[in-house]
This record gives sequence, structure tokens and C-alpha cells, in this order.
Amino acid sequence: MALDLHPSRLGTTNEDGSRAFVYPSDVRGKWKNRRKLAHLLMLAIFLIAPWLRYGGEQMLLIDVVHRRFIFFGHIFWSHDVPVLFLLVLLGFVTILFVTTIWGRVWCGWACPQTVFIDAIFRRIERWVEGNHLIRRRRDEQPWSFKRFWRKTLKWGAYFGVSMVIAHSFIAYFAGAKSMLEMMARPPDQNFGYFLVVFSITAWIAFDFGWFREQFCIIICPYGRLQSVIMNDATKVIKYDSGRGEPRRGDEPKGEKTGDCINCFRCVSVCPTGIDIRRGLQMECISCTACMDACDEVMSKVGKPEGLIRYDSLKGEEKANLWRPEAVAYALAFVGLLSAFAFVLYTREPLDYEFLRGRGEPFTLVKEGADDFVLNHFQVQVSSQTREDVNIEFKVSAELETSGVKLTTPFHPLSLKTGEIKRTGLFIRFPKSMVKNGVAKLTVTTEAQGGQLKTINQHEIRLVGPFM
Ligand code: SF4
Ligand code: SF4
Repeated sequence: MALDLHPSRLGTTNEDGSRAFVYPSDVRGKWKNRRKLAHLLMLAIFLIAPWLRYGGEQMLLIDVVHRRFIFFGHIFWSHDVPVLFLLVLLGFVTILFVTTIWGRVWCGWACPQTVFIDAIFRRIERWVEGNHLIRRRRDEQPWSFKRFWRKTLKWGAYFGVSMVIAHSFIAYFAGAKSMLEMMARPPDQNFGYFLVVFSITAWIAFDFGWFREQFCIIICPYGRLQSVIMNDATKVIKYDSGRGEPRRGDEPKGEKTGDCINCFRCVSVCPTGIDIRRGLQMECISCTACMDACDEVMSKVGKPEGLIRYDSLKGEEKANLWRPEAVAYALAFVGLLSAFAFVLYTREPLDYEFLRGRGEPFTLVKEGADDFVLNHFQVQVSSQTREDVNIEFKVSAELETSGVKLTTPFHPLSLKTGEIKRTGLFIRFPKSMVKNGVAKLTVTTEAQGGQLKTINQHEIRLVGPFM
């Protein structure tokens, strides 16, 4: 059944609301070749990245179990939410910047949904079941043994590929090494892991093998955002109606026709089943198939290519980077990137926070003939290092001799990698140090563990009686 292009209904929906399956025709051309290269690059990055190591760790690891994120040797823990928030904001601004200039270039060139379907799943389908015409004809026929084994072979291959993709995906979360170890054991020894991999495999096969364009049209939130992010200066895939209209066969009597010969080739190649000649539509994933298809038709009828081309709605063929919104996004991007780089390179392996203890601000203590003041603090230490460390709290020998004494329940305070710990700290100091109700001293923390040895000094403001 051919696509029913009703003006007020999705091209992938029948009159009764059921799904109209799309059988996009194959297409060749320069855009297809460029996209093939982009898809190969994306596939290579996706499959290879979990196996690359940097600074002794997996280069990119979202370690959910240990609540840490490793990015090119830098470890972020769950308590690093502000830094991770910067990273997420950076990603968000990048999407805004790219989309406002080049439209849905992500969807057509780099989105896993498009990359896996076009580069792998449609190829398998074509090898096993034939081209779009044969597939449609066979699907309309009643079930037979031949149809059954072809479907079985196709879905078997889909599941095989989905399993590889699922394992590669899991390697970003569980770690490539641990994943290999788990794979070597029987399923009943890692039943949880087995269930997760099985569910992801099933979802991938279902989504890339059957659900396909429905995901982009119904589920994808990015697709829904387009109308907010894009404007009439954004580059989109556009049919030049000024040049194409009136189409052949639709022209008023006696009028010359435009360049569109109304062959519907651009519609037959569209994976989301739309007619781009109706103008920009939310279902268009910028896959460039209609551009190649129409260019082929134009060259056959001796007309210039580009009746369907990358263009802005107001007709600027070159991307305009100097629009206020593009400049604003670019500035936000540079600002966030600088902030992220600054935080990354000024990050200490251990982060200390000295907070005043609850209750009385100070207590007066008499020891022999000497008067002392006691202040209570809560010290929070966050580990941002990959080493387990022991931390000692100290003051200088001079202060010690003058009567300053530090008391903590831990000697030393032990911290595991990525851990946050809070400890009480009592500082006893001579009353004579207090001037106008305030005294200052420096507490030194010495941390040691594995390769790490750090010394930090903390200026502490103490309180005492007014004298
Ligand atoms: S492929 Fe080109 S000529 Fe054919 S219908 Fe589409 S726009 Fe018109
Ligand atoms: S309209 Fe063209 S670019 Fe958009 S999804 Fe269809 S074939 Fe791809």
C-alpha cells in the first residue's frame, strides 16, 4: 500500500489511526555518501570509546554502582553535582547553538536512532528481504514458509547486532573490563546483569527493527523542541517552491510548469513518510535523502540540482553565525566551558569545610592556673581522589607550645576514595589569644595515601569572650 499523504494526518498514520508502515526507497548521491562517512565515524566512536584508557582508568565511565563519573582521567563523584551540572549545561547550550544554526543536523547525521537504523538495520533488511518494493509486496502477501524464514533470519540478525550494541552500551556504565568478566560467567551468577543486557537488547531490536521513525515522531523530546529553538534563519532541508511550483500536472491551463515534475521520488525515499514540498514539518529528521533523490531527478531532466536543498526559511543558503541568539549561545558556551576548565584544573584532591558546631559559640576552661577557650567545629572532608587517604589535623609547634590543642575522635581520619566524612574538631586555645572576642589560627591537614601526599592550611576564625 502506498503512503496516504492526507493533508491533516501524519504520513505514517492510516485513516483509522493505525500505523502505516514506511518502506523508504533506496537512494544514492553525494549527501548519502557524506552521511555514510559520518555514520561510520559515529559507530567507530561508540564501539571503541569504552575500550580506551586514560591515566590508568577507562577514558569515559559512568559508574552508577560506585556513584562516580570518569572523564579523561578526572573523577567526579556524586558530591560533585555542581561540576556535573556545568557539564550538562554545556551540553544543553551546545545543542541550542547547533540547532539554531544548522537545524536538526544531529538527527540526520549523528543520532544513534538514525545511525544504527541506516548504517546497520536497513542494510540487513535489504540483504535478507530485498528492496522496498519487494518487501512491501511480500508483506502484503499471506504468510508462507519463505516469508517466515526470511523474517526469522532478519530478526535473528537484528538480535545478534542488538546484543553487540547492548554490551557496548553497558560497557560505558559497568566498565569494559568488568563487562568482559561478567560475560565469561554463566547467567545465573550475574542474573541482574543478564536481565539488564537482555532487556536493552530486546529494546534495541524492537526500536531499530520495528518502531523506527515512530520514536522520532512520537517520543523524542529533542524533536518536540525544534519549533522553539529554530527560526526562519536556521538552515533546514527546504523545497524551493518558487522554482518548483506549479508542479507538472498541477499547473493552471496555459501556464508554464515549475521545475518539480511531480514524480514523488522525494516522498518515496523519506524515512518518516512526509512530503517536504508541503514545507518544514516536525517529522523531518534532516536525513538529506530527499535532496539526493531530487538532485538525481533534476539531472535526468536536465535541470539544475538543488530544488530541495539546505537553506533557511528566509532564503539564506549560507549559515548566519552573527544572529543575536547564535552569539548569545556561543558566549554562554565559552563562559560555561571556561568555568568548567577552571573548576577542573583548580580542583583539590580533598575538599575541606569547617563548620561551627551547634550550641554555645565557646566554652571557658580552666586548667591549673591557665584560662583557655574551647571552640567546637564540624569538619566535612570530601575526597576527589582515587586513593584511600589518612588525614591528620595539626597546628604549628609554636602554637602547641603556647597551649593550643586540637582534639578529634579520629587519629587519623580515614577516607576511602570518593567518600565524604564529617568529624568533630575541638580547638582549645589560651584566652590571651582573644582580641575583641575573636582569635585566628591556622590548622594544617596532612593527607597521605598511595601516591598522594597533600598538606593544606586552613585559616580558622575562633570566638571567645570580649576583653
Ligand atoms: S523529487 Fe523533486 S521533482 Fe520529484 S516530486 Fe520531489 S521535488 Fe518534485
Ligand atoms: S523530508 Fe527529506 S530530509 Fe526530511 S526526513 Fe524526509 S527525506 Fe529526510
